[in-house]
Amino acid sequence: MFEKILIANRGEIALRIHRACHEMGIKTVAVHSTADAEAMHVRLADESVCIGPPPSRDSYLSIPAIISAATITGADAIHPGVGFLSENATFASMVEEHGITFIGPKPQHIALMGDKVAARGAARELGLPVVPGSDGAVSSEKEALALSANIGFPLLIKAAAGGGGRGMKIAADEAALPEAFRMARNEARAAFDNDQVYMERYLGQPRHIEVQILADGHGNIVHLGERDCSLQRRHQKVLEEAPSPALNDTQCDEIGRTAVEAMKKLGYRSVGTIEFLYEEGEFFFIEMNTRLQVEHPVTEMITGVDLVREQIRAAAGSTLSVAQEDIAYMGHAMECRINAEHWRTFVPSPGRVKAYHAPGGVGVRVDSGLYAGYSVPPHYDSLVAKLVVHGLTREDCIMRLRRTLEEYVIDGIETTIPLHQRLAVTPAFMNGHYNIHWLEKFLAGLEG
Ligand code: ADP
Repeated sequence: MFEKILIANRGEIALRIHRACHEMGIKTVAVHSTADAEAMHVRLADESVCIGPPPSRDSYLSIPAIISAATITGADAIHPGVGFLSENATFASMVEEHGITFIGPKPQHIALMGDKVAARGAARELGLPVVPGSDGAVSSEKEALALSANIGFPLLIKAAAGGGGRGMKIAADEAALPEAFRMARNEARAAFDNDQVYMERYLGQPRHIEVQILADGHGNIVHLGERDCSLQRRHQKVLEEAPSPALNDTQCDEIGRTAVEAMKKLGYRSVGTIEFLYEEGEFFFIEMNTRLQVEHPVTEMITGVDLVREQIRAAAGSTLSVAQEDIAYMGHAMECRINAEHWRTFVPSPGRVKAYHAPGGVGVRVDSGLYAGYSVPPHYDSLVAKLVVHGLTREDCIMRLRRTLEEYVIDGIETTIPLHQRLAVTPAFMNGHYNIHWLEKFLAGLEG
């Protein structure tokens, strides 16, 4: 097993990884920008290295700075966390070239799934149902028009290098297609430095359902059920739950098994998530994330499996601690993403936290680096806390969610807690009848 792991990330996810490491008796090295010198992930780590100024490109995205920090501190592995360099195949390869273990999948699988056009092709070959759309990249307006006859309208033009819900344009009909195509390409070029786009049928009322995969390097691959992440704003997840209120046990088993078979064919290693849209009984692959997901705690809450621990074990060459038949689901879990943003306008709200009190009690988990006196820097993602609750039933879980949201005190900055409080008492949420478009409509109808 590793003796020392460098965590190439910040905030709550860096803390999450640190916790798994210490429970395994592994020392940790935190890296941080000058803006994060006082951050909790730095305070708790055994060692820390300042890797640059506040902008991410000069610190958390600086491959030379991170590899140097690992070399200087004698770390034998690097955990990339979520975001930043976690899906960068070049980084994964360079880490390995320096004799350090990259805690994640093989670089070729990161590269394959990072190119969404290639990923669609691979998914099809692996036996996963994909959203009807173009076979490969679409290179001209003429080609887009020709293909649209088979795909149908409305359709979605998506960036091959897209991520984080960015780089998508809807074309409602044929007349709107050329303009949407041009805009999608320009945006993709500006945002991702890659103007390759592809097309998919735009689904009218799907749910976003994803399957958690866990694999060691010895051919053992299991799934840990699904997560429902249909509550989204601007294609970004706001609240996630497991299991999905829309599926029955047979459907969950089937999609889980299909996902495992695909990963066996691929020879996948580490944690991974296969994302699907689900509409009228059918699943359609949209993408695969070759890393830990922000919402992984809901799976941990209902299975009791520590995904980060398993990920570290797999990277160290150990076998999985669980077989498929050991994985049992208990109860229901939900995660609220709490952002440092105004709950209604979503304007970022960095600044000093004056008072802080996290909720507790049975079935409650808070992943956050916040503390009283801490200043949330303006340079990074606004996610500052994840409130995760578990209940024996979905109803218990909702009651616990309401109670914990009431208890949670974060003074000094605006947060999205009031939005979650409103959601938790809304009938469509309570009865589980929502799809990926529902939250936007709910927000449009809110007063305040
Ligand atoms: P990203 O990599 O940016 O997260 P995804 O392909 O995972 O992009 O899609 C993000 C979200 O966008 C999905 O969860 C869903 O809400 C919406 N979306 C993606 N593809 C479609 C589609 N074909 N039809 C309708 N909505 C879609």
